Amino acid sequence: MSTRPEDSNPAYDDRSTTRAVPIHHHPSASAGPDTSAWGLDTVLAHVGTGTDPATGAITTPIHLSTAFGHPGLRQSTGYDYTRTASPTRDVLQDALARLDGGAASFVTSSGMAAIQLAVETLAPFGSRIVALEDLYGGTFRYLQVLAEAGAYEVDFVYGQQALAEALSRPAALVLIETPTNPMMECYDVAATARLAREAGALLAVDNTFYTPAILRPLDEGADVAIYSATKYLGGHNDVMAGVVTVADPALGERLQYRLNTTGATLGPFDSFLLLRGLKTLSLRMARHEANAKEVVAFLQASPHVTRVLYPGHSGMVSFDLAEDVDIATFLESVRVFTFAESLGGVESLVTCPSVQTHADVPPATRARYGLTDRLLRLSIGIEDPSDLVDDLRQAFETGTRH
Ligand SMILES: *Cc1c(COP(=O)(O)O)cnc(C)c1O
Repeated sequence: MSTRPEDSNPAYDDRSTTRAVPIHHHPSASAGPDTSAWGLDTVLAHVGTGTDPATGAITTPIHLSTAFGHPGLRQSTGYDYTRTASPTRDVLQDALARLDGGAASFVTSSGMAAIQLAVETLAPFGSRIVALEDLYGGTFRYLQVLAEAGAYEVDFVYGQQALAEALSRPAALVLIETPTNPMMECYDVAATARLAREAGALLAVDNTFYTPAILRPLDEGADVAIYSATKYLGGHNDVMAGVVTVADPALGERLQYRLNTTGATLGPFDSFLLLRGLKTLSLRMARHEANAKEVVAFLQASPHVTRVLYPGHSGMVSFDLAEDVDIATFLESVRVFTFAESLGGVESLVTCPSVQTHADVPPATRARYGLTDRLLRLSIGIEDPSDLVDDLRQAFETGTRH
């Protein structure tokens, strides 16, 4: 139980856009056994255990209550109102911060809400943002909307060289993905972090494709890691969420203030689903990657494929379909894969970025970075790899114009 000064309740204090409030942690974060020496798989399997001493529940309780009773005037149990802090969400945020080695994580109602939270909190309005041109289509669209409204000066760049040139001028924020979506271009996070620092900018890395099981951007010198948790972190195509993790506690305090003010927090049930998904993250990532490597080997040997893009890790693969295969027939013929626009779940999906995820990227821009109308993106699931390969083989055959 804590007693706080009258004006410290962030739920009612919106006087300034740059105010900070203390990062909120679940009480179990400072209780229980010392787990600091645990390896990743142990940390993941135990996400949320031991958080309810009253019952000894193995998994995290879903606290649906939006309001929490106060023991007395100016007293709080630590929880007042769910937008400000929720016990279920706190357990999740603490786990995510630990996974990335950050000071604090914030979970939001979608990946786009996470990107909005990070951009609008960390880059002052009017400042300059440098972003990759081949970011996720929704992120590109959002930054364009901001630029058109005059909220920011946004420079889109393609490739490490252009990124370095753009950072010879001061900026407030650099936003990259590695690997990029769907071109699988990889960026050196440590080198980019140095360039960003010289330009006076914070570096934010959208790590949706690799997750902390493969890459921990903060360890490489990035200031912010961002996730669409709808993808691998959740992993089961059943929860929409986003994550912002920061290394610097002072940035965390600003994000906490802003998230409470703007309100796109994650609800308790979705927080629970994400906690549940996280427990198997490294198992799933290992299987996604092993399956992807088998599919890549098949695609590279196939006469129906003209280009294969695979960054070497995780389960995302892009390829160009040769002219002899009708793309619509191919997409209608898959049986193990589902033609759908998302990624990172246990079920394999196939996406056509030019008409789905990247439809809002101007065709000239797409053409410049090589996103053709014949490029398909696979999210490789955890099925038997031979079933995945057989499915692609039969769909190529069915789609071939004879
Ligand atoms: C899906 C995705 C997003 C957006 O996340 P939502 O959860 O769909 O809002 C952002 N970045 C990347 C790399 C994505 O794949």
